Amino acid sequence: MPAVTALSRFYLCGSDWETADSSEYNNLSEQRAAMNENETSNGTFSTLINRDFQPDGPLASAMPGYVCRTEQVKLATEIAETMQNGTQLMAEAETGTGKTLAYLVPALRSSAKVLISTHTKALQDQLMFRDIPGVQQALGVRRRIALLKGRSNYLCPYRLEKNMQDITTEPWLKKKLLRVNMWRNKTRVGDLSELPFDVFSSAIGGKITATAEQCLGSKCPLWNECPIVLARQAAQDADIVVSNHSLLLADAELKSGDFGEVLPDFDVTILDEAHALPDLACRHFGRQIALNRLTSWHNDMQKLLEELADEASLKRDISTLFLQVVHAYDKDDLAAVLEIWQELAALADQRRERSDDAARLADRCEAIGDDMQAILKPPQGFVAWREGSGNQSKHLLAPVETGPVLNEKLWPRSGIFILLSATLRISGSFAYMGERLGLNCDLGLDSDAHQETNAQAVSHPSPFDYATQAMIYAPRHVPPPNADGYEDALFAEMQALIEASSGRAFVLFTSHSMLRRVAPRLAAAVSWPVLIQNESGSRDAILQQFREDKHSVLCGTRSFWEGVDVPGEALSLVIIDKMPFAPPDDKLLAARRDACEKKGGNGFFDIQLPEAVATLRQGAGRLIRTQEDRGVIAILDSRLYIKSYGRVVAQNLPPAPKTEELADIRRFFARQ
Ligand code: SF4
Repeated sequence: MPAVTALSRFYLCGSDWETADSSEYNNLSEQRAAMNENETSNGTFSTLINRDFQPDGPLASAMPGYVCRTEQVKLATEIAETMQNGTQLMAEAETGTGKTLAYLVPALRSSAKVLISTHTKALQDQLMFRDIPGVQQALGVRRRIALLKGRSNYLCPYRLEKNMQDITTEPWLKKKLLRVNMWRNKTRVGDLSELPFDVFSSAIGGKITATAEQCLGSKCPLWNECPIVLARQAAQDADIVVSNHSLLLADAELKSGDFGEVLPDFDVTILDEAHALPDLACRHFGRQIALNRLTSWHNDMQKLLEELADEASLKRDISTLFLQVVHAYDKDDLAAVLEIWQELAALADQRRERSDDAARLADRCEAIGDDMQAILKPPQGFVAWREGSGNQSKHLLAPVETGPVLNEKLWPRSGIFILLSATLRISGSFAYMGERLGLNCDLGLDSDAHQETNAQAVSHPSPFDYATQAMIYAPRHVPPPNADGYEDALFAEMQALIEASSGRAFVLFTSHSMLRRVAPRLAAAVSWPVLIQNESGSRDAILQQFREDKHSVLCGTRSFWEGVDVPGEALSLVIIDKMPFAPPDDKLLAARRDACEKKGGNGFFDIQLPEAVATLRQGAGRLIRTQEDRGVIAILDSRLYIKSYGRVVAQNLPPAPKTEELADIRRFFARQ
């Protein structure tokens, strides 16, 4: 990775610290000299950041409840040093370290242009509406902040207008479009979350947003009022941009075209929740074909031909061919779909000269065909598979290993990268995550590394006292997951645990089928309200209900294992049904295992087990969120004892006392 492009930007922002504006200097060496002078008189950037965190510093005097935490100060200092030295950093900061504050202070104090990228929307909102304003106020700094979301979050006024004018749009949909249009005249930023209803579940999402394929870019007649363009301009002008990994990866993938580079260049990119990056990279650096992508092209093409008015026979031909596409797609025959699609592409290509829109639709048709071809014949290093069947199916292509693609597409971008997460290590080593991220760490832990060392790795333990705050319940007597009687035993254990904790529990399932079978039984058996994913409301709605009703139980699958923060008594028990190994039919994981074994590794121990351990660490991390929290983590999987890998899993659990006895758990809760 290249070193930072604007080292000189790290003189300090804020009240009495500010020394100079970069525009006062003619060249880089003058700026560097100014910074050195500043360092000599005030200490280095990192020592000054360190001072902010001290008990007599600005954070302590301005932020209610602030406590100086050793690991947080160390992390903030390391981040400041990284920014100053132009290196890259990978930092594991376990729950409770306070990593958000640790990176916000150096980011807001420096005058560098900083991107803060998150995986979850919850963290993005927390940064924008709580943390950044609070820290700015405490430090007395004022930097320009912008929020940049993915394009599906913004109104596309062009498509809204088109669909309002379309005579084939049904009246009930038109009514909704008119409501959006009224809001359009009032909104400042065109962010769809301002609307009082969810546009995608109201069936109009596709009519008022534009995918990258659908967007006309700078040729759009509404370019000057396009919310995406305006949000992008705001990001250009801002000092700190808050965004998400998906947008960053999409930007890394699409480097050309009108909307190719959505993000400007940054001096520093801070990736929080960095553990999620490899899986997202699989999606963004791969390809995907679903019927709605094909249908959307067909609908747009039909609209164009309608407008052209003199293409009735072509309109008919395209319609006939598209019906054949749908038929072949329904039979899961992608090769047949491609054959017919190529006929459509030839027809679209013949009309490309008629208008910009026609040319764009011809390009779009060709790009879809190219993606189908890649899925049918995956390039070296990629794997293709199908999820679901019939017209609900998705055909996917993804890189088997994410390290090389991230190395090729993301890390060569200019600037410093700082990656943070509560879970980046497996059994104390960064090797597994480093390889998935394409980063080597300089701790000497990655002895088989074949690439250059290119990121410093640091870890910070949780300040929580797990010995007194928590207990782990791992019963040996529950039959293993494939044995007779497992499901009944699981249900009985869950019921007993929930009664012991008086509700206040997260029940994390590894599969939807187990959730569907066991959760309703729990709802009928326990005396506390049970909220079930996909049945009791949207994810956000049931989380909200769980927080408010202090004795409720929430049953969910993968999306609740991470990115959920419920401090306090409402969450006092986390039950994990079994070790979260990926299902045996996971094609991508199978390809990763094969690739690992071809290189002489062990597919299970080097790929599948670390993956499960990382997920388990995330799930277990939901329990203790503050110094005051107390609770139990229950892992109802006896393979912890009977399988050789059980020891590895146990090593990666929080350092809390363990028990096999339910009576201990009852006593633990009785002491509360
Ligand atoms: S530029 Fe793209 S997203 Fe913006 S209004 Fe035009 S088509 Fe829609």
